[in-house]
Amino acid sequence: MSKVAHYLQEHVLGQVITSAEARRYFSTDGGVFSVTPSLIMYPANENDVRKTARFTWQLAERGRVIPMTARGLGTDQAGAAIGSGIVMVFPAHMNKILELDGKSGLVSVQPGINYGRLQQTLHTHGRYLPPYPASFEFSTIGGAIANNAGGEKSLKYGQTRKYVRSLRVVLANGEVIQTGRLSKRDLSKKLGLATFEGEIYRALDKLYEEHQNVLAADQPNVTKNSAGYDIWDVRRKDGSIDLTPLFVGSQGTLGIVTQADLNTEVYNEQTTLMAASFDDIRIAEEVALELRALGDGPSALELVDQNLLEFIDRNNPNYLKEVVPTPFPKLMMLIEFDNSNDRQQRRMVKKAQKILEKFEIGYQTERQKDKQAELWRIRRSAAAVVAHNEGKLKALPIIEDGIVPPERFNDYLEGIYKLFEKHKLKAAIWGHAGDANLHMQPFLDLGEVGDRQKTFKLIEEYYQLVMSLGGSTSGEHSDGRLRGPYLEQLYGPETYAFFQQIKSIFDPHGTLNPGVKINVKLDDIKPLLRHEYSMDHLYDHLPQS
Ligand SMILES: Cc1cc2nc3c(=O)[nH]c(=O)nc-3n(C[C@H](O)[C@H](O)[C@H](O)COP(=O)(O)OP(=O)(O)OC[C@H]3O[C@@H](n4cnc5c(N)ncnc54)[C@H](O)[C@@H]3O)c2cc1C
Repeated sequence: MSKVAHYLQEHVLGQVITSAEARRYFSTDGGVFSVTPSLIMYPANENDVRKTARFTWQLAERGRVIPMTARGLGTDQAGAAIGSGIVMVFPAHMNKILELDGKSGLVSVQPGINYGRLQQTLHTHGRYLPPYPASFEFSTIGGAIANNAGGEKSLKYGQTRKYVRSLRVVLANGEVIQTGRLSKRDLSKKLGLATFEGEIYRALDKLYEEHQNVLAADQPNVTKNSAGYDIWDVRRKDGSIDLTPLFVGSQGTLGIVTQADLNTEVYNEQTTLMAASFDDIRIAEEVALELRALGDGPSALELVDQNLLEFIDRNNPNYLKEVVPTPFPKLMMLIEFDNSNDRQQRRMVKKAQKILEKFEIGYQTERQKDKQAELWRIRRSAAAVVAHNEGKLKALPIIEDGIVPPERFNDYLEGIYKLFEKHKLKAAIWGHAGDANLHMQPFLDLGEVGDRQKTFKLIEEYYQLVMSLGGSTSGEHSDGRLRGPYLEQLYGPETYAFFQQIKSIFDPHGTLNPGVKINVKLDDIKPLLRHEYSMDHLYDHLPQS
């Protein structure tokens, strides 16, 4: 064991592990990159996180930088949950619900709690967290906060950021802060603090004062965004300030979350689900735009494409039998309404039916749970692509999560099909039609030199396509290592410089998840590309308490 591991093991309550096996295990996440950590730590409590941060800060002051990477369940698909120093794994012990107020719906949790477990508990109180990611059953709240995750309900309810009321965060030097909106008066108290927190507030105050032009600059005109830092809702016109938006979506690069207070919504089980088939993508775009424009509109507007339906038909012919019309349409959309007032729900469904009929689109409407579950299988079948292997060919998360303005939906899909054609790929597409936020994972073999080269060509061409359509490189999965290199082009040099200053205010020594999101170049990530890809291992290596 190294001196660092020894020191930590003596000073923290949780376990510290340096075995080659554990280091290999935590060298990958759900993405295509690999970085081997020097040690793994399972923090038992916030104090462990504090002590570790304080220790790395002191070492960094003496010129030795040991990166700290917070980790939930490691499903991140952009290489944000791996790092070369200390990987701090939260689900082992810091996985509790601390408080749940059934009336207000406010819930306080530790970051390592499994999202699915929390959702189940909330359901028993008639509540839920709407921005759950598709991976909710095998990921954590900490990961969702750090990625500003979103999902099928984000169309109506927004992303994780909207539900985070306040966070407890361990700063780079080990100080603990509680975030929340501070009035101008409270801020002036913070500005006077002789602590790192005080330093942060002073530096931010100055930064925001001097760069107001940056905040007025154009941003991607999209309905969801997890790229970059959310610098826009920190300081408001009334002089108040809140650090919460900065930490949400920051991927552990500004601080480590040890507790989150979250707002929840009332859970309405009575929904209506419609499935519609399209043979013309342009019409699918028009329908999506009209559905979006319905005032109290759909709670989900999801899609799968013909390639996905064909893939499922080839690999599991019974799975979608009698659920999807044949011959397969170009696109299928699932349209869900969850309005709490039943009459209003029926009214909205009628309006949606009228829109579909105007465009002569075939559809079916279901209010019964079991029938709805059958239809949802169409969208859930994307999981089969992600998990599928064709020999050494694996479905790689390299070009995915781009989002464009909803009125560029058709151009986006056409552009992706052209990209596939150019590279002789036939990849399935699925995602969030209402937000024009799409996912796809082409089959490639990372053991082959040709496919490794193709990987970076695809990455470059796909993200250029997304940006050329006025989109954002990440709708919900965030930047990580994969999309970090495109942030400067996405936001422009001035906004990017603002992001860089934010990073250096919170993390002056570069100990917080370096190499992720900010200050990342394509040449940094190329050598990190794995030679094989698999997610098989993600669940089996955790002490639990
Ligand atoms: C099949 C599949 C489907 C997916 N679908 C979606 C989807 O629909 N929507 C979506 O948004 N994402 C999706 N993802 C991506 C990912 O699963 C989610 O973003 C998820 O919320 C990450 O949670 P995790 O526990 O796995 O986090 P990890 O992968 O462990 O970590 C993710 C990031 O969070 C940081 N982090 C973790 N804990 C903390 C903490 N305590 N403090 C500070 N930073 C922390 C890590 O450093 C890392 O940067 C999907 C992934 C897969 C494999």
